[in-house]
Amino acid sequence: MKGKRKVILWFRQDLRLHDNEALFDAMEVSENVIPVYVFDKRIFEGTTKFGFHKTSKFRSKFILESVINLKESLRSRGSDLLIRIGEPEEEVYKIAKALRTSWVFCNRERTEEEVIVQDELEKKLWSIGQEIRYSRGKMLYYTQDLPFPVSHTPDAFSTFRKEVEKVVKIRKPFATPETIPTNFGKLKLGDMPTLEELGHSNFEFDARAVLDFKGGESEALARLKYFIWDSELIKNYKNTKDGLLGEAYSSKLSPWLSQGCLSPKQVYHELKKFESEKGANESTYCLFFELIWRDFFRLMGKKYGNAIFQKGGPKHETNHELNDEMHLFELWKQGRTGVPFIDANMKELNQTGFMSNRGRQNTASFLVKDLKVNWQIGAEYFESMLLDYDPCSNWGNWNYIAGVGSDPREDRYVNIISQAKRYDPQGEYVKTWLPKLKRLPSDRVHIPDTLSPSEQKELNLKLGADYPKAMLSTSRWTK
Ligand SMILES: Cc1cc2nc3c(=O)[nH]c(=O)nc-3n(C[C@H](O)[C@H](O)[C@H](O)COP(=O)(O)OP(=O)(O)OC[C@H]3O[C@@H](n4cnc5c(N)ncnc54)[C@H](O)[C@@H]3O)c2cc1C
Repeated sequence: MKGKRKVILWFRQDLRLHDNEALFDAMEVSENVIPVYVFDKRIFEGTTKFGFHKTSKFRSKFILESVINLKESLRSRGSDLLIRIGEPEEEVYKIAKALRTSWVFCNRERTEEEVIVQDELEKKLWSIGQEIRYSRGKMLYYTQDLPFPVSHTPDAFSTFRKEVEKVVKIRKPFATPETIPTNFGKLKLGDMPTLEELGHSNFEFDARAVLDFKGGESEALARLKYFIWDSELIKNYKNTKDGLLGEAYSSKLSPWLSQGCLSPKQVYHELKKFESEKGANESTYCLFFELIWRDFFRLMGKKYGNAIFQKGGPKHETNHELNDEMHLFELWKQGRTGVPFIDANMKELNQTGFMSNRGRQNTASFLVKDLKVNWQIGAEYFESMLLDYDPCSNWGNWNYIAGVGSDPREDRYVNIISQAKRYDPQGEYVKTWLPKLKRLPSDRVHIPDTLSPSEQKELNLKLGADYPKAMLSTSRWTK
């Protein structure tokens, strides 16, 4: 039976009303639900260990838009959103104390920084006789439905996938409530910060970006609908997913999934609906397959805890060859390595906050396997820059590429030039991000370091002036 007790609903990386278990749980027990979002100063204004902005302008803007959209959706359902700027453990506690609520409902996080915050809040709530009640909202699968305990999750992705995909049912998403009962009393709602207040200036959208990503649940559901139903891009996803240019080559759902504007269960059930109405094929399965990767890395994060952030990774094997040479890292970061496929991808990341999966595989491998730079610096840079940053997916993928992940089979060396030729055969992608190379013929665009001085003159390109000399000769991949 619902009580008259007030509860707080603390939104975190679950900025949505559909399939939001914490919202559902809160409404099960209370007729007065107080939604709160706190812009954590440490996340927006802080820096990482190697000195990068913790959250780039791209992701800050995306989160801001997501919170604005959430507030609008709550308002349209008779509620609203309390906005605070500060430390969530302090701000949520102050609200709990002022309103004399009974519980704080939230979706549980599992990585260190987030856990510290929720633990600290929990302790403070205990001091006033209140508690946190955790719900789940990140994964396709519920850990309690898995055929193994979390600590026995298979270390190899393919074993994990085979054990879950055929036997574990993916639960139905929770419905979006039509109304949400809220009474804030005399409490001030608080103002939405501007992007400047979150530490960034406004910036221009780069028209070369794959998509003009806008934060929020409404945009997330619109992209899902477009990708699956309106354009039916899903039908050909398997063949196009490794593309590099434009909005059509992969789902582009990751930024919304990462901030929880979109539930993976919702994506799955939409896929199933499409399959039952229009037919299943390899592509519809393939998107499901990719979503399983996301769950896998989340489970690796739970199983191995902080080891995913440490140099030796879950394997506890530190590669002593790797160095902290910041001058090598800087050239990589700025897209000035002289290897066009790497530089183009880094320019895209720096200009838009997004990079394709193919680009991420290649740039990460180049940093670690070719330049022998400490992979943690690269992972931190991605953490800072990516629109879709997710702790487990980012650090988990870097673990794999650095060869310190849990899967014994994942320690591959990537041949940058054969990848460039395969995925960008005409050099269209490279020329988009490195216009200085636009006159190069397709058979030379990925290997400009092989141009003789007379060829350079003919093509009106001076290596070392118009485009950097290669820091590593491309012949290492073409011999
Ligand atoms: C070094 C490196 C760092 C990465 N960091 C992140 C990150 O911080 N956040 C993030 O969401 N993804 C990360 N990825 C995975 C992948 O590159 C992106 O999920 C994908 O490019 C996003 O584009 P999309 O939504 O169009 O993907 P699609 O190809 O359409 O895939 C659909 C969804 O499946 C999931 N997915 C696909 N591949 C992976 C994968 N390898 N690992 C985990 N989930 C996956 C994502 O949620 C994605 O949105 C990283 C990969 C590498 C190699």
